[in-house]
Amino acid sequence: MTQRVAVVGGGPAGLTAAIYTARAGLQTTVYDAGEPILARNAHLENVPGFPAGVNARTFLENTREQADRAGVEFVDARVEHVERDNDGRFVVDTDAGASGAADFVVAASWPDSSYLEAFELERIDRGSKTMLSTDEFARTDVEGLYAAGRLARQYHQAVVAAGHGATAGLTVVDDSDVAYYHDWVAPDGYFTGRGRELPPGCEEIEETERRERERESLSALRALSPADSPTQHPSVDD
Ligand SMILES: Cc1cc2nc3c(=O)[nH]c(=O)nc-3n(C[C@H](O)[C@H](O)[C@H](O)COP(=O)(O)OP(=O)(O)OC[C@H]3O[C@@H](n4cnc5c(N)ncnc54)[C@H](O)[C@@H]3O)c2cc1C
Repeated sequence: MTQRVAVVGGGPAGLTAAIYTARAGLQTTVYDAGEPILARNAHLENVPGFPAGVNARTFLENTREQADRAGVEFVDARVEHVERDNDGRFVVDTDAGASGAADFVVAASWPDSSYLEAFELERIDRGSKTMLSTDEFARTDVEGLYAAGRLARQYHQAVVAAGHGATAGLTVVDDSDVAYYHDWVAPDGYFTGRGRELPPGCEEIEETERRERERESLSALRALSPADSPTQHPSVDD
């Protein structure tokens, strides 16, 4: 049976973790309560690949679309509780009444980890906020439970959160039943042309397929248009 991953949080960390686990073939669900903090940004100018910056809402929307294309399922709800069932799997409950089972949970839900109260985790209090301690590969002290992004005490920057989400996703893949090497797309013959087996996780594509993918990616970039304005901090007066 395909193993399942529950990612809590649909900001840069959670979405990136989900892209990696889904691309590796794990059944992945992102639970998101909405209003990622990045949506408050006025103009995002430090994410690689966008020389003049990018609208943060556009960046998030496109990352979510990328996760969707990778096969990620979305549950737009707040996770209220996670615990283990008698078989040792995680059970994820939301405020919308949805309940799901998972073999792995990635907590990427800055600033909320209250739904993990059932677990003995090393917690770090920072003023009114609580962060979770992880090892260098985003594992917490609880087997099968990972933390990513700002919640895992990473720098408060979008690309750092996304990168740490990728680390968490790849560690889940590494700990799962999936045979993992690298998530790479290589030109036709890169491995097989020198008598090597195609490593697990790698893909070789022919030139016509490469051009088709490039055409699609360029048209997706051209289709970008102005997106929403920032969400203001809730305590700022109108
Ligand atoms: C005003 C402002 C401007 C910024 N500008 C920049 C900038 O220019 N450049 C830059 O690099 N960074 C910027 N940042 C910082 C950046 O937004 C964060 O570092 C980054 O978003 C952290 O990513 P994350 O995925 O860890 O958390 P978040 O983006 O906060 O995502 C967490 C997600 O988890 C969800 N969630 C929380 N609890 C639950 C729950 N119980 N169940 C389900 N979902 C839950 C939230 O709804 C949210 O969608 C800015 C931040 C702010 C506030």
